Amino acid sequence: MLGELIPQGTFYTQVINHGILGHYVATASLATGSYETLNNFASTPPGNPTIFEYYRRDLKRPVEDAWVIAPSNGFNRIGGSSHRAYGPNFSAEVVLPKQLLAASMSGGTSTDYLHLLRDNYETPLFAPPIASDEVNLQRTADLLKLSVADFNAHARSLASPDELSVYIARQLMTQVSPSLIWITLHDIDIAHSGAYSLYTDGIRRSDRLCADIWNTIESLPEYKGRTTLFILPDFGRDSDTNPAGNGFQHHRTGDALSRTTWMLALGPGVRQNFVVDRPVDSLDLVPTLGKLMGFSPTYAAGKPLVEVL
Ligand SMILES: [Zn+2]
Repeated sequence: MLGELIPQGTFYTQVINHGILGHYVATASLATGSYETLNNFASTPPGNPTIFEYYRRDLKRPVEDAWVIAPSNGFNRIGGSSHRAYGPNFSAEVVLPKQLLAASMSGGTSTDYLHLLRDNYETPLFAPPIASDEVNLQRTADLLKLSVADFNAHARSLASPDELSVYIARQLMTQVSPSLIWITLHDIDIAHSGAYSLYTDGIRRSDRLCADIWNTIESLPEYKGRTTLFILPDFGRDSDTNPAGNGFQHHRTGDALSRTTWMLALGPGVRQNFVVDRPVDSLDLVPTLGKLMGFSPTYAAGKPLVEVL
């Protein structure tokens, strides 16, 4: 990111998250542009309309045009809200790669894949069952023109859940070419184990995968030169010096470091090698995408980021 991607884009050095610092609820807030208060560990849809619903409803786009690739089975409701004016008719297709992988091994889970199936690094109390949804597997495999055997064989060569997600994203972009894709990476959260070396491994892998995603965009004619990529964390991690926390391990104190992150925007019309130091809000993402893509996020609370418009 520092060497290749940031010089090609506009980089915000202070993106502040004022909401609840749990991964599902924070990602849902990013997707609605409104701080959601849903239970992070429950299978609940966001209360406010998501970017996918605004996009599909305002621009009259079909369901195949908006997708989410989510790391955890706990994200299965993120594609659409419970809002009366929006909801299921306008939501995104959500792919849970781990659920696909589990379903593809109907004969039993091989130990070759256990490292790809770990769902959550945070709490043993939250372990949503990995449902073996073979109907959904076959449908997604058909859409992505992927045989279950190929998928299985490819998964065997991958080192982490995020690599599996990026593999699915590439397949999706090649076969379906949707206009709006939301990819959530999660390997970094292995920091909860307390092992710093695993955390830095996760950081390096995410760093490389972000470049892989950009290079995929730039290698496909459907996307090259006409796609904007936004990269941002959901939130930060606790400060090493906060007496209430355990440093990098968790995000429980709500201190300034756990709330302060960054954002990179890349693509046509986005200024290159440009740094914005003013503080902005995590909620500004959806209104910014609304301006760029031409939808009206009526219930979003943030403001469009003028530097990338
Ligand atoms: Zn976490």
